[in-house]
Amino acid sequence: MHGNIAKLAFHGVRGSIPTLDRGMWRYGGNTPCVELTAPDGTHIILDCGTGLRMLGNQWTRNDGDSSIKAHVFVTHYHWDHIQGIPFFRPFYLPQNEFHFYSFPSKYLGRDSLRHVLEAQLARPYFPVDLTLMHSAREFAEITGGDQFEIHGTKVTARWLNHPQGCLGYRIETSAGTIVYATDNEPGVPELDENLRQLADGADVFINDAQCSPEQLASTRKGWGHSSWLEGVKLARECRVKNLVLFHHDPDSTDRVVDGYLHAARQEFPNTWGATDGMGLQLRDGVAEFKLREGRLGQRRAVRFSATVSGQARDGARFEEFATVKELNLRGGYLWLSHCPQLQSQMNIRVDCGTPEKPNTIMLRASVVHCDPGAEKERSGVGVIFIDDSELSLPLD
Ligand SMILES: [Zn+2]
Ligand SMILES: [Zn+2]
Repeated sequence: MHGNIAKLAFHGVRGSIPTLDRGMWRYGGNTPCVELTAPDGTHIILDCGTGLRMLGNQWTRNDGDSSIKAHVFVTHYHWDHIQGIPFFRPFYLPQNEFHFYSFPSKYLGRDSLRHVLEAQLARPYFPVDLTLMHSAREFAEITGGDQFEIHGTKVTARWLNHPQGCLGYRIETSAGTIVYATDNEPGVPELDENLRQLADGADVFINDAQCSPEQLASTRKGWGHSSWLEGVKLARECRVKNLVLFHHDPDSTDRVVDGYLHAARQEFPNTWGATDGMGLQLRDGVAEFKLREGRLGQRRAVRFSATVSGQARDGARFEEFATVKELNLRGGYLWLSHCPQLQSQMNIRVDCGTPEKPNTIMLRASVVHCDPGAEKERSGVGVIFIDDSELSLPLD
């Protein structure tokens, strides 16, 4: 038995449009999709952005032919919250069953989400049509103020301030309360009050943090988004335990989001920056956060001594001597007398020991840059290291 635990997994955290920029690698580029597993095993999906594809791949890989039943909550119909639907493999498998919840949009009329789904698979937008989507699907229309239970988990929906409308959700499980409030701009008193009611005493409060406070007050006013500072104010006022900054701007690099997170933590230490692959376990209202280890990939065993300084969980600074046992290397720059072909692969043996104690790291790399004669007739060669797990894959 694992006890009474709710699990949350972030599969997409980027707002507006997916990003693939290298400078956004750590937080990730998939648009919103959050998976909640209630303590009784009930599956809840929050939004169907491109992160939904990752969840679908995970479920079909892990569970094979077993059937999946899930409750899917869509906050609103902007592209970034629905775009993953056609790419979610479990929707196509007959043994699966999905219950969708969203609001009737005045632009789409009754059965809004059903229309969205059908339109996404209509010709000529997608190569296969709805007849191949074999899962059972049921659509429920909800609105702000609705409250209902799914196998003992209580869900409350409230309107947020966003162009063409958006619902925020408060989900109360027996292990703790999670609030999902993305795509919201503060400033409309009754909608601000909605958000306060949703957030009240939440264990995990996921809030829109797309803009900087300066942008929110100027160039981004009226765009329907919020900032880390608004999140911090609410987190304090509503006595939430953990604040998660979510819906990162597609133009915010990792450094920019790092800056928001750092600023927020000065004011509210229990703040987290949502990343693709981040997860948490919630037990008795206490959340334990975890970042996806796979993200660290490309690790190589080494043995270096190092002096490490940093910040402990209680906020105190520390410095200590340590042994580095693994390194995560993404790439490098070398001078070679040859000029290797772009996108060809090289083996690199790095000597990192001492004459008394020789040591090496073996790396496989793909050439991404070659500058002939960069240094004393040698070429400057840029490489990206290839993960061990990729080496087992065929190249074609
Ligand atoms: Zn959005
Ligand atoms: Zn939106």
